[in-house]
Amino acid sequence: MKIQENKKIFNFSAGPAMLPIEVLKLAQEELCNWHGSGKSIMEISHRSKEFLEVAYTSEHDLRELLMIPENYKVLFCHGGARTHFAAIPMNLLGSATSANYVNSGYWTQFAIQEAKKYCIPHVINIIVNDNGFITVKPLYHWNLLPNNIAPYLHYCPNETIDGLAIHQSLDFTDTVIVGDLSSVLLSQPLDVTNFGVIYASAQKNIGPAGLTLVIIREDLLERTGYLYDVLPSVLNYTILSKNKSMFNTPPTFAWYIAGLVFKWIKLQGGLIEIEKRNYVKANLLYQVIDENDFYYNKIDPLYRSRMNVIFNLTNTSLINCFLKQSLSYGLHALQGHRAVGGIRASLYNAMPLEGIQVLVEFMRYFAYRYG
Ligand SMILES: *Cc1c(COP(=O)(O)O)cnc(C)c1O
Repeated sequence: MKIQENKKIFNFSAGPAMLPIEVLKLAQEELCNWHGSGKSIMEISHRSKEFLEVAYTSEHDLRELLMIPENYKVLFCHGGARTHFAAIPMNLLGSATSANYVNSGYWTQFAIQEAKKYCIPHVINIIVNDNGFITVKPLYHWNLLPNNIAPYLHYCPNETIDGLAIHQSLDFTDTVIVGDLSSVLLSQPLDVTNFGVIYASAQKNIGPAGLTLVIIREDLLERTGYLYDVLPSVLNYTILSKNKSMFNTPPTFAWYIAGLVFKWIKLQGGLIEIEKRNYVKANLLYQVIDENDFYYNKIDPLYRSRMNVIFNLTNTSLINCFLKQSLSYGLHALQGHRAVGGIRASLYNAMPLEGIQVLVEFMRYFAYRYG
């Protein structure tokens, strides 16, 4: 098999990640002269009629895509997901001193660490490592503190670095579920009503870095308590909501691009179509990982991420060679996160099927050549 000429680049970065080329081209086209205004969208007031139109349309499209009910507010925030690791307890604890925190890997551990500044998180360890085979404890073994002591449960349905996903919804009906959906929001249809709060950094599957989406059920606003009194105004969900995400200057350019991404998703056929494609893409890759012993992923297939596929080579000394040669196929950013090593291919919405087809072709060639 001949190594392809380096023509097309497929960017498997976990974040900031690739954006749909149609979105980038449109943004380029209107960069210097947005809708005939003679200015870039970056250069106008967030309170101008023009930007308010961008803000309104993007929220409308997002609401339509996710079928967000009326009683949920959508906030276009700053700060990234890590900011909300702190903002969540400060906004939601009220007078409580604990909250349920599911530990499923890298990002939830950081959320727990941050929450410790504000409360005593009740940590629920759900990962089971059975001789290297990774699975998740069934829901009925998750021992939650009751609602009156722990007013919410925080979890992450897609652990971006561990490549592990909790696909089923959590049916703990009498608790408020808070989800860090940074790497999975908009990759599939979602029942927003399963959550009290959803938050997500944009730079995985939504838009450029700098924007963070927060979707919060109205009745969870204004949970006053001692933390609420010292909560910085810019992190106060009630204040942000009352000011329609314009208490201070929002990240306008990132917001605008996210709006184009929402339109792009609608054009693709919405989240049902997007989910279908994401299924096909992930299955194709896992199939090659599993077909012999050259590659491996030891996560229970029920809990494998469809967004961030991690795998390793049985002969780890070949990893650098794999990464180097993959570049000549146009396959970029496949190196695993520094915390776990190995290989990671992030397959967000913007990654075309062709990218995975080239990746599996390369993987088969590489296994044949070095196996
Ligand atoms: C990327 C990521 C974060 C961190 O996001 P920042 O924008 O860097 O704060 C947190 N949680 C998850 C699940 C992520 O994928």
